[in-house]
Amino acid sequence: MTVLRVRGFGLPDGEPIDLYADGDRWTTDPVPGAELVAEGWILPGLVDAHTHPGAEKPGQPLDDGVLKEDLRAHLDSGVTLIRSPGLAGDPPDWFGQAEESPRAVHAGPWIAQHGQFMEGWGRRPAPADLPDVAAAQAARTGWAKVVIDWKPGDDVMPVELLREAVRRVHAAGGRLAVHSQHGAGGAVAVEAGVDSVEHGMGLDPALLPRMAEQGIALTPTLSVITAALAQITADPERAGKSWYVPGAAAHARLTAAAVEAGVTVLAGTDTRPHGGIALEIRALVAAGVSPHEAIAAASWTARAYLGLPGLVDGAPADAVVFDADPRADLSQLDKPRAVIIRGRRRR
Ligand SMILES: [Zn+2]
Repeated sequence: MTVLRVRGFGLPDGEPIDLYADGDRWTTDPVPGAELVAEGWILPGLVDAHTHPGAEKPGQPLDDGVLKEDLRAHLDSGVTLIRSPGLAGDPPDWFGQAEESPRAVHAGPWIAQHGQFMEGWGRRPAPADLPDVAAAQAARTGWAKVVIDWKPGDDVMPVELLREAVRRVHAAGGRLAVHSQHGAGGAVAVEAGVDSVEHGMGLDPALLPRMAEQGIALTPTLSVITAALAQITADPERAGKSWYVPGAAAHARLTAAAVEAGVTVLAGTDTRPHGGIALEIRALVAAGVSPHEAIAAASWTARAYLGLPGLVDGAPADAVVFDADPRADLSQLDKPRAVIIRGRRRR
């Protein structure tokens, strides 16, 4: 197998780098005869920290064909690592391993309360069993995902129950992500000390310093919420009655404030089509986040949060190469010059 080489400026620091893929590891030791695949601005791959590949519509079972297509779309967009906080089923063994799959961490099927979440998806254990189910999932895959609020008026998960789930998941060596789209849910999540708040719509900005201090990450899924808001407000009658509008309208501000407060913000696309991470980076920038921080949320910061190093000696051999600095020209994100995963060229 030919050894691949990339050369240029590495982000986040922008220093000159020259790396060789020794199998699935980067090395700075020159390898004779290596093939220089690209020169330019190099990231350790993009990261989509909130994506649910493998089902075309909510409630449908996990489909291997759809899953493959979705993962290819991620790779083609420069994404070399995904986190799936919830899947339509337990994924096949090749998920995150096969040549045409980004690396992947996942939480298995969602865990929700009775009467909540998408019909046909997820597990709904009795409340007394929920911490066990979450801990068993985290023991298998490193993550569990719990839906702690749903429609307005639905019960928010009691803080004691969520705290016990966190305790059990941590004891199993895993981490807990929660879905929250109401202020009351966000407050419970922070109080219970979860590892990441997904969406976080309606979250009280006063909780952001505490999230920063406790290392609670926020995945705002801003582009999908902004798009849904635009759809709702296009119909004034619907907009006037919708519970969604106040939280969604404040979400860009909340996201920028989270970055400002030092919260670990992760970029995630949530919905189909897959491969839209550039949209989320643009949404973060439109919210007032600097391009450097927005790309960090979709690359090196998210990668570190998920346990993988950046472009250093011995790191997994992933990279995406752009012709110019994407922080100065976001359109670069739409046309990666090269995508390398596990030491092999994808595009
Ligand atoms: Zn989601």
